[in-house]
Amino acid sequence: MRYRELLLEGEKALQAAKVPEYELDAWYLFSHCFSMDRGAYFLYMETEIPGERLEAAEEFRRLARQRAERIPLQQILGSQEFMGLSFFVNEQVLIPRQDTETLVETVLAGEKRAVLAAVRPYRLLDLCTGSGCIGLSLAVYLRKNKAASGLRMGGRKEGGGPEILLSDISREALQVAEENIRRFDLKDSCRTVQSDLFTEFSGEQFDCIVSNPPYIPSGVIGTLLPEVKDHEPKIALDGSGDGLAFYRRISREAAEHLFPGGHLYLEIGWDQGETVPKLLGEAGFFQIEVRKDLAGCDRVVKAEWPGV
Ligand code: GLN
Repeated sequence: MRYRELLLEGEKALQAAKVPEYELDAWYLFSHCFSMDRGAYFLYMETEIPGERLEAAEEFRRLARQRAERIPLQQILGSQEFMGLSFFVNEQVLIPRQDTETLVETVLAGEKRAVLAAVRPYRLLDLCTGSGCIGLSLAVYLRKNKAASGLRMGGRKEGGGPEILLSDISREALQVAEENIRRFDLKDSCRTVQSDLFTEFSGEQFDCIVSNPPYIPSGVIGTLLPEVKDHEPKIALDGSGDGLAFYRRISREAAEHLFPGGHLYLEIGWDQGETVPKLLGEAGFFQIEVRKDLAGCDRVVKAEWPGV
């Protein structure tokens, strides 16, 4: 059998299973199994697959069968790119979404200066962290910014770097986050805390709290793609009947965990751009702003805690 025939076989299996973008996904699996890029493929596609690569061919068939069961590509390959970084993922965490990069970019734009100006270690809490993609990409880019600014300042010694806590109720999710802490060598600045929102943070305060909590209304989950509804953790998606359960709790409880002038950043669903700011306003937050994602949908809410 030739390489081209095998790839085509995989494409057909995914197409029959109604996988969206079946050609692209077949290619990713193929390229993973044979460590081949596009250039090599075009060079060898009409060549017979040699004996020593038959195992790779069998692996490709096996992974294509998994994808045909609508297991997400990222769970099969064990990774997802987010903010230009490759995160480890499995079935215990929500796969990082591109929409969520809007949240990270909003936090970076809003907090960079506060991190540099901090006279004591700046503290950030990522609630419902899952894979850790939000807190860890913030750690990577805040560190880069700090290093760049240190150079601009002629190598002036800065105070300690930011302290970043990654929290989740799921122990299994935190194991994924811990793997990512190791992957990006962030042990010095980041650690995980198992907690049901703020329960384990009594008496602790932060400069910034950021969260992408579960926000899909329970009744909507059944209408999502099989990849999401059957293979991603319900606990990471389900925001209860109206999707707002976590925003209610966070807006009530965040205040006592923010320093005066501290900021709260939340990812929201496209249709929550009025309800979530209202909840935050009622809880005493001010300077409430809504940001849109690249698709033009409401996606992020930023709010400030006035303190005293
Ligand atoms: N944006 C995700 C989705 O559409 C949901 C994320 C969440 O509930 N926090 O599947």
